[in-house]
Amino acid sequence: MSLLITRGLVVDPARNLEQELDLLLENGKIAALEPSGAIPRKGRRVVKADGLVVAPGLIDMHVHLREPGEEYKETIETGARAAVRGGFTGVACMPNTRPVNDSSSVTRFILDQAKEAGLARVYPVAAISVGSHGENLSEYGDLKAAGAVALSDDGRPVMNPLLMRRALEYAKTFDLPLLLHCEDLNLRADGVMHEGRVSLELGLKGIPAAAEEVMVFRDLELARLTRGRVHIMHVSTRGSVALIRRAKAQGLKVTAETAPHYFTLTEEAVRGYNTNAKVNPPLRTAADLVAIKEGLRDGTLDAIASDHAPHGPLEKDVEFSEAAFGLIGLETSLGLNLKLVHEGVISLMQAVALLSTHPARILGVPGGTLAVGAPADVTLIDLNREWTVDVNTFASKSRNCPFDGWTLKGRAVMTIVGGKIVSSEQ
Ligand SMILES: [Zn+2]
Ligand SMILES: [Zn+2]
Repeated sequence: MSLLITRGLVVDPARNLEQELDLLLENGKIAALEPSGAIPRKGRRVVKADGLVVAPGLIDMHVHLREPGEEYKETIETGARAAVRGGFTGVACMPNTRPVNDSSSVTRFILDQAKEAGLARVYPVAAISVGSHGENLSEYGDLKAAGAVALSDDGRPVMNPLLMRRALEYAKTFDLPLLLHCEDLNLRADGVMHEGRVSLELGLKGIPAAAEEVMVFRDLELARLTRGRVHIMHVSTRGSVALIRRAKAQGLKVTAETAPHYFTLTEEAVRGYNTNAKVNPPLRTAADLVAIKEGLRDGTLDAIASDHAPHGPLEKDVEFSEAAFGLIGLETSLGLNLKLVHEGVISLMQAVALLSTHPARILGVPGGTLAVGAPADVTLIDLNREWTVDVNTFASKSRNCPFDGWTLKGRAVMTIVGGKIVSSEQ
């Protein structure tokens, strides 16, 4: 099987390449990259990419696929379908399923389901601690051997700093990155939105920015102590961005991600008690939003991940205080990210790095580049196509999206995984 993608604007941050080229995919790999017309078309399927961006397959390094255990919200198949529709050729799925992915059998189950679906590549993230209870470390060697690419207790922080220290030391032996949900649960208490002016006006209990920042600080200090590697997930505050910027300047092995909702929405979105705007960490202030954008622009933040967190009416059609935290993002992520490009906050090259090259590097998975020999994972993007978000057309099983009805500019028009077209609007 041979696929020739012609005349697209090839963007490959791994080699600082942005040029109109023809791209040949063969036997599941990138086979050639040449000036237009140089690769013979005869006997090959041709995909015309005039006016389109040809990017290495996008990788969403933080999603929740809900299987096993909560298949009414999402399955590995529906989540993988949402991923490829959104332009993602790979996703890393968090372990807070039922049961928690703290064993090689759950890790293997996830990989089997993903293979069966045959859509996006699914990279299992295994639990830092058994059951994510924060008491005993899980078996990192077994988990890595089964196919886990990283460790996280996402949904919860590791509250005990000694256990966190041991996790950093243990993970280092297996070269597994720790993906950290930074939140002090005591300080969070029973808060449901950002603590500030809007929470006061609405009479809702607040979560202070400090609940995130004290934990970011702690984990950076533990990375310093152990010389371990940490990745801070869903950065939402100005203070966290400043801490990470400083840690990087000091040479600590730290990477960080934010999510599209932290640079598109603020606490104002909660007005009207919209439960789809209830997310953890919560939507913050306008000043935080500006700091997140600056962190993306200057490279303090390495990746953008959706934190796709499907929930059903059972969890969301309830009072704000009772509703579950989380929103879905796989099918809106790229469009929201391209807003930053259209606004001139980041370049197209930076956007592709944040969504593909850097996630691949952080997770240590193949892809993130269109170099010859790399997997034939490719996303074709129409930068200028305007479209309206309609949750009823989503491949995801869930509808908890605060962007319903928004008009976005730019979307994936074709997603190719291992040389196979898995989603196409052409
Ligand atoms: Zn989290
Ligand atoms: Zn999460």
